[in-house]
Amino acid sequence: MTKWRKRILNILENSKRPLSAEEIYQLNEFKPSLSTIYRALNFLEKKDIVSSISFENTTRYFFPKEKHMHFLYCIKCGSIEVFENCIADEIKSALEKKYNYTILDHVFYFKGICKKCKKEGEK
Ligand SMILES: [Zn+2]
Ligand SMILES: [Zn+2]
Repeated sequence: MTKWRKRILNILENSKRPLSAEEIYQLNEFKPSLSTIYRALNFLEKKDIVSSISFENTTRYFFPKEKHMHFLYCIKCGSIEVFENCIADEIKSALEKKYNYTILDHVFYFKGICKKCKKEGEK
């Protein structure tokens, strides 16, 4: 693994939320080019080491600490929170039966308005 891949993986591992390539670029004090970061992310995703999710038009990458991930996405400020409560297991077996499908994993998010933005809206 090249040092950039290791470095990016390390950033994602320590991040509480998924990060876009631009955000990784800003966090990384060694500053490779943005295209180096994109290439490293592509590589890591192909190897199944990191996962990605797209909110609006931005792809964000994360290191899946759990097999499955759930996010809350604020449509106003773009903030992302991770939540633990899994509701998928309840529908998983029903879907597997209905579609004769083997479900391995899931990633999903709820869109909404975060606490901070709600407060600002009340002003
Ligand atoms: Zn917000
Ligand atoms: Zn889950």
